[in-house]
Amino acid sequence: MNKYKETDDKAHKRQMQALKEDVDASIKAAKTKRGVSILLTGNGKGKSSSAFGMVIRSLGYNYKVGVVQFIKGKQSSGEEIFVRERCPSVSFYQMGTGFTWNTQDRPSDIKAAKDTWMVAEKMVKDKTYHLVILDELTYMLSYKYLDEDTVMKVLKNRPINQSIVVTGRGGTSALRDWADTVSDIQETKHAFNEGIMARKGVDF
Ligand code: ATP
Ligand code: MG
Repeated sequence: MNKYKETDDKAHKRQMQALKEDVDASIKAAKTKRGVSILLTGNGKGKSSSAFGMVIRSLGYNYKVGVVQFIKGKQSSGEEIFVRERCPSVSFYQMGTGFTWNTQDRPSDIKAAKDTWMVAEKMVKDKTYHLVILDELTYMLSYKYLDEDTVMKVLKNRPINQSIVVTGRGGTSALRDWADTVSDIQETKHAFNEGIMARKGVDF
């Protein structure tokens, strides 16, 4: 056997041992056991789909899950169809069709946002929910359709074992302060910018 190769293998083993010690020490240092608050924001793709990944994780353990979507898209999505049709245990709510980004319709947008928030608030206050997804909530705060103080008060007082995931671009500083975990998903490239159409099962 080549002696350099052997040295490489030994060096690799030493490196891995050191890494394992670091990882083990970090795992041991984490002693707080409670739900987490997560903000998935930024312009890149992967916020809502990550949130639905956590829905699947929770369902794997038969945990109770709630999903509230603050935007009624023009088309339904694969995740909506799947959850509605095949996950009867998941409480799923989507903001009514009356919603439009057209500010001419601002009063009805605000009404829809407030009605949807009432559903979300009820879930967040219910300690039987292991996970609550508040998809695209960020826009309701940045457009001031919902009062930020009211929303933050509820989010801050969530039951200790409940985890909440908030998604959407432009996460406000209040959301950033609240969250234990913040991921700013950066757009490096997006197929859409190259003229590639949004793909069923990938983008919606
Ligand atoms: P996804 O639902 O795929 O995880 P997302 O939640 O991060 O995306 P949103 O801003 O909610 O992103 O956008 C939803 C839709 O827009 C998805 O179809 C997604 O693929 C698409 N999209 C996300 N980022 C971009 C982008 N930078 N340019 C164009 N389309 C995008
Ligand atoms: Mg999204």
